[in-house]
Amino acid sequence: MASGEAAEWVPRTRLGRLVLEGKIVSLEEVFAQGFRIQETEIVDRLLPNLKQEVLSIGIVQGQTDAGEQSRFRVVVAVGNEDGFIGVGTGKAKQIRLAVDKATMYAKLNIAPVRRGCGSWECGCGQPHSLPFKVTGKCGSVRVELIPGPRGLGLVANETAKVILRLAGIKDCWTRSFGSTSTITSLAFAVYDALKKTYKIVTPADWVR
Ligand SMILES: [Zn+2]
Repeated sequence: MASGEAAEWVPRTRLGRLVLEGKIVSLEEVFAQGFRIQETEIVDRLLPNLKQEVLSIGIVQGQTDAGEQSRFRVVVAVGNEDGFIGVGTGKAKQIRLAVDKATMYAKLNIAPVRRGCGSWECGCGQPHSLPFKVTGKCGSVRVELIPGPRGLGLVANETAKVILRLAGIKDCWTRSFGSTSTITSLAFAVYDALKKTYKIVTPADWVR
């Protein structure tokens, strides 16, 4: 084993072994071959420059026989600012543990985002925005992501902005409907919309 990290990771899945052995060297391959990621080490290995942002920290009050018990609920987004995004949520008694859990789930949820210039006002052909309008849903929240011209920036609220930036989208309009003050639902609705950028093409179209 070349590094200490490599010696520590003992993969539990076939995909993990393929990544560790260097037979799969990119997330593009992982998705093209239809693998499901069940180990965060795969993401750490294939996207070493992954960034993470805590989107929200909330307190959940729970009633047990022992009395009131509060736990922290954290929403985290991860992305490489270049076409990959994941969102996850975690609950724990300590903030740090909740952040770790949410980060773990965000990594396992990592998904490719197809970018493009779908703005009729722009037409530059560079992948600074989305290729077309996409819609995402979570709970009562619905989000529309609309391609925008170069230089527009991210016309979005703070939560959506962070996710779009982590995905590598620079210019885009957003519209949201429903109880958008629920950060968790909003975050997963944006994530859902971004995932749909690949839903209407086959993997063969994007592995190039
Ligand atoms: Zn453009």
